[in-house]
Amino acid sequence: MKIEINNNNLFKEKAYISGQWVDANDGSTIEVTNPANQEIIGHVPNCGLEETNAAIDAAAEAQKKWRQCPAKEKSSILRSFYDLICVHQEDLARIITYEQGKSMTEATGEITYSASFIEWFAEEAKRIYGDVIPGHLHDRRTIVIKQPIGVVACITPWNFPSAMLARKIGPALATGCSLVCKPAKQTPFSALALAYLAEQAGLPKGLLNVLTGNAQTIGKAMTDSNLVRKLTFTGSTETGKMLLKECAKTVKKVSMELGGLAPFIVFEDANIEAAIAGAIAAKYRNTGQTCVCANRIYVHQDIYDEFCEGFTKAAAKIQTGEGLDPTTDQGPLIDEAALAKVEEHINDAQNQGGLILLGGRRHKLGGLFFEPTVIKDANDAMLIAHEETFGPVAPLFSFATEEEVIARANDTPFGLASYFYTTDLAKSWRVSEQLEYGMVGLNTGIVSTEMAPFGGIKESGMGREGSKYGVEDYLEIKYISIAGIDR
Ligand code: NAP
Repeated sequence: MKIEINNNNLFKEKAYISGQWVDANDGSTIEVTNPANQEIIGHVPNCGLEETNAAIDAAAEAQKKWRQCPAKEKSSILRSFYDLICVHQEDLARIITYEQGKSMTEATGEITYSASFIEWFAEEAKRIYGDVIPGHLHDRRTIVIKQPIGVVACITPWNFPSAMLARKIGPALATGCSLVCKPAKQTPFSALALAYLAEQAGLPKGLLNVLTGNAQTIGKAMTDSNLVRKLTFTGSTETGKMLLKECAKTVKKVSMELGGLAPFIVFEDANIEAAIAGAIAAKYRNTGQTCVCANRIYVHQDIYDEFCEGFTKAAAKIQTGEGLDPTTDQGPLIDEAALAKVEEHINDAQNQGGLILLGGRRHKLGGLFFEPTVIKDANDAMLIAHEETFGPVAPLFSFATEEEVIARANDTPFGLASYFYTTDLAKSWRVSEQLEYGMVGLNTGIVSTEMAPFGGIKESGMGREGSKYGVEDYLEIKYISIAGIDR
């Protein structure tokens, strides 16, 4: 073990199936490395078909009892789980930084965010209400009840290894479902640490299973299974589309949190200073590796030069380095493929007339570090205008009218997050209503909270996570039509 934390029990190099910490049946493992220095930080089991089926069986068995468990008891276990996440916040944040690379400030924030979903759904567990519908005939009444879907398969990405999972564990357990989870290969330890804390919180065995190993094999076992009634996925649109197809075979319910291409619009009447701060937060968080990162920054032509100058000055202050160094704002990218994509977008932008105002190169620290980058005179023909960059590159486009910028912002198959800055009330409503996105940040560059329904439209996915709406994705509706109620 190459990591330093206070409570070593949180660092598990085993899969978690039916309440047991286990190796792969054939003993094989996969390496996990630290993206800041490429050192191996540990190994996890390379699970396959048999282990996945064992986890699904365990989840199905455990769910039979859990669905009957009183709401208050479910809530109380989730509350204990939340408390434990808070107690171990620093260790959990360090695990994220070791395996994912983000700064400790951001990792600590991610743990707060993870915990908030467990807390929120601990509360919502007690509020899963039904309905009574007036009779459509003299002697009839209709009652609507909501019931857990059953076994939920869940596949999560590396960019928020703790929060993306907590956002699924919370509502699944609150509604009476059970889970079989597969974290990303780069970041399994955050998921395993959460499973350990759920166990410590008294969660009955079999309800939460975490498998590490081959994505294709585990994913196929999940989608082929009749016992799995829902798949919740966070990751790329490409993988999401493939999983959707596979889920059709057994008509599973699905939630898809997929890629984005967020526009960030600054109108001529905006508070420029606030817009610059918002754009920096929306662009460079997690080294530009979030699904809600501003990918295209549109600035009105009247304030374009002023914005470019202020934004570049602010971006130049970002400190790049190892996440464990307290002075670091921005960590490394996740892998060499991510660096290659960033370079491809920058080269393409330069070839099409883009002017580099800041950065543009691999960082002098070497490895997977990249300089915060700003590109002026971006245009719609560039790759960066159409593809998620997932790196610290801010292309600045200029625009002339409201109609034009809305059309350009919506000209994409994606529809996750969008942002705009204005001080005009009427424009605030008009633009909010016309942006074809699941989320709109108005005069803010950060929209995420457990209290709001996070999610996208178009090819950014379906379903919502967080808020009262997030519960619905894990419930089936049943109605009971009662006859013979004559007065
Ligand atoms: P990815 O390649 O789609 O991987 C995501 C997860 O899917 C990983 O656990 C991966 O496992 C697994 N996976 C890959 N191929 C699979 C297959 N054939 N069957 C089953 N599972 C499979 O995405 P990523 O590059 O890690 O994540 C970045 C993407 O996620 C971006 O597009 C980002 O926008 C999106 N994202 C969306 C949201 C949202 O809420 N909308 C939030 C965060 C990220 P392995 O790691 O083992 O390959």
